[in-house]
Order: sequence, then structure tokens, then C-alpha cells
Amino acid sequence: MANNITVMKFGGATLATPALMKGVARRIVETRAQGRDVVVVVSAPGKMTDELIAKARAITDEPDEREMDMLLATGEQQSIALMGIALKSLDCDAISFTGPQVGIVTDDAHTKARIVKMGGEKIKTALRLGKVVIVAGFQGETENEEITTLGRGGSDLTAVALATALSAGICEFFKDVDGVYTADPRIVPEAVRLPRLAYDEMLEMASLGAQVLYNRCVEFAKKNKIVLHVRSSTKPEPGTLISEEVAQMEGVMVSGVTHTKKEAKLTILWVPDQPGIAAKIFSRLAAEKLNIDVIVQDISEEGSTNISFTISQDDLSRAKKAVEKLVREIGAKGFEADEHVGKVSVVGVGMRSHSGVAAAMFEALAEKGINIQMISTSEIKISCIVAEDRVEEAVRAIHEKFQLAKLA
Ligand code: ADP
Ligand code: ASP
Ligand code: MG
Repeated sequence: MANNITVMKFGGATLATPALMKGVARRIVETRAQGRDVVVVVSAPGKMTDELIAKARAITDEPDEREMDMLLATGEQQSIALMGIALKSLDCDAISFTGPQVGIVTDDAHTKARIVKMGGEKIKTALRLGKVVIVAGFQGETENEEITTLGRGGSDLTAVALATALSAGICEFFKDVDGVYTADPRIVPEAVRLPRLAYDEMLEMASLGAQVLYNRCVEFAKKNKIVLHVRSSTKPEPGTLISEEVAQMEGVMVSGVTHTKKEAKLTILWVPDQPGIAAKIFSRLAAEKLNIDVIVQDISEEGSTNISFTISQDDLSRAKKAVEKLVREIGAKGFEADEHVGKVSVVGVGMRSHSGVAAAMFEALAEKGINIQMISTSEIKISCIVAEDRVEEAVRAIHEKFQLAKLA
């Protein structure tokens, strides 16, 4: 049941300087003055999480994950305290809490933990006392009181999980952009803000590289029917609402173009074309905790086939080692690596009822002479693997082809 509670989440860029923090505090006070009960979720200020990771990596390439969580959780803890100080300096009664303090319980998968239980009683008590409650995003603790973090972008997930636990109904994300755009505005200056998106579209966009919301946050919101509102931290106008699909969305064929870089493609050559071989390859890669993205198997020639797949560049050296062993075991001829690929994708629920989207996307790439290395599709998205140094050009060409600048 919806109530008077508003969850307001502020990202790192909106908290990067003392002046920005004060501005955010004023915005919170304004919302409180409208009679709302306010729960604030904050990220680490500025680029602090990146800086903390760099500090650990300056010591070792593979820092211990439990200690990484201890380190990373300190970023958000600084933000809650500073926001508490900012609000109290404006005579706003406020109290800050860490994730563990408000009962966010996770599994023990350090650096990418999943929430298993949400408390919230402490928050409700503070709200009843008229306080603004500030909660550290991105962090929780295991049943054994070990500090954990929820994966990069995890403060978004904290916000939606709190909105769910508190029956808030809507969760607002205040950002340095004023909504979700048809493409990353840093790459496509003509990109326009989308007033509405369906959960499924946002989920695909987030999973396919649109950094603006964490995909696990969208998944959680869809499951619990929490409406998401992505909006500007400095302007009062509404931004993008993400909710269940509504009929009007179907008129639009493609809603956005997303991209990722820093991927790599491995091809195992002359794999014996027999039942069980693919299972053997991919179960071994899974056992090595390698996340595989797109997979393509060529047609069989003389009883052999080539199998290609993509992975993150970060995992390349581990993947190469695993594949080298597999090649020997399955009697393949060898393997090739393309260490620099990326992925461009078009997303839209309207694709379900329109044909020709793939053809138009491939045409856009052909017109720029960009070679498509692999293709993967679902009901509401089409992705192409291309050379990493052509990704941005590909995004712009596709955005232009579908005339997404006219969606505004
Ligand atoms: P926060 O710190 O609030 O979590 P992020 O930095 O994670 O915010 O996400 C906001 C950034 O996402 C924007 O500055 C923008 O450059 C980038 N971005 C990428 N794709 C999109 C998109 N389709 N729409 C809006 N922003 C996008
Ligand atoms: N500070 C964390 C990160 O940079 C969590 C977040 O901002 O959502 O990934
Ligand atoms: Mg983020």
C-alpha cells in the first residue's frame, strides 16, 4: 500500500563537492516541506569508489574481496555523515544510518552480494519522530555481520529495496542527467530524453550498457511494482518514469541505442561437431566463473565447427588459459582472440509488433563500413558485436537511422 514516504536517491556526481551537497540538502528540505516523509539514499561522493578501487589495485592486482568490501563501504559512509551535517546545518532534523544499521542483510558474495532480507524498523521509527532518514547505498551485511557491497551502481538497488520494504510505491533517482536518453548523451549529443519507459526496456538498456540505472535495481522494481523516476538533481521538471508497459509505448519501434566497450571475442577453431562438446566447453568456463555473453557456432564443415563467444576484457587472460586447456582436451585445432570488441544494441518493446528493425540496424552499420562480427536477438532487442574502436560511430549511425532525436 502506497503511503506518504518518498525515497530520494542521489548519485555520486550530485554529491561531488560541498556546494553540490548543500544544494542536495536544500532539495531534500523542500521535499520535506511538502509534507512528505523522506528517506534519502546516497552514493559515495564523486569518483570515490573508483579511487578506492585504484588504491587497492596499486597494492595488488587481485585484492581480497572481503577487504575490498570493507574499503568500498567507507565511501557511502562519508556521504551519509556529510549529508546529515548538511541537513542539520539547515535546521532539518535528520539521522544517518549505514546499510547494516537499517537491517540490509545479504548473502556472502563479496563485491556483488544479493539482498536476502530487508529490515526497515529503525527507519520507520525515525520517520515517526519526524526525522529525514539518510541511508548509505551499496552496502549491507551478511548474517555473520560481515560488511558486503552490492556491485557497481548498487546504491540504485538499495533505494528500490528500501522503497519496497517501506511500501513507498515510487523511488526517485536524482542525477547529473535529467532522465533516461535515447542513447548516452556523452556520445550522441542529439539524444533526447524519454518521458516513459517500460520496465523490460529499461532492464535491457541497463543490462546492455546504459549506465544510468543498475540493471538489478530495475529487475527488483519490476518484481515489486515500484515506479522509478529518473530526474535532474538541480532542475524541478519531471524526468523519465519507468513502469509497466502502457499501450502508447507500442507506437515506438525503437526506444534507445546502448553500447558497451572493453569486451573480447574468443574463437575455438575446428571443434569436433558432436553432442556434448558445447556443454563441456561452457560448463568449464562457468566453473572458472567466466561470464560469457554472446555465443555463435558456425555451420559444420567436415565434422568440425568454430565456436565464438565474448567476455569482458578483464577476464581475458583467465579465459585464454581455460580455452588453451580445453582445445587440447576436445581435440580442437586451436583458438583465436580478438581482444578489442564492443557491442551496440537497439532496444524497444515496439519491436514485438514491427518487422524490419534488424535490417535497418544492419544497413546503418553497412553504410559506415562497420563490420558485424556477431549478432544476438531477443523479443525486444538486437545486439551486434563490432570492433571496439567503431562502437561510438555505430551508436551515432543507428541513432540517426531510427531518427531517435525525433522521439522527443
Ligand atoms: P549515479 O551516480 O546517479 O548513479 P551514473 O553516473 O551511474 O549516475 O549514471 C548517470 C550517467 O549515465 C549519465 O551521466 C550519462 O552519461 C550515463 N548514461 C549512459 N547512458 C545513458 C542514457 N541512455 N540516458 C541517460 N544517461 C546515460
Ligand atoms: N558508489 C558505488 C559505485 O560507484 C555505488 C553507486 O554509486 O551506486 O558503484
Ligand atoms: Mg550509478
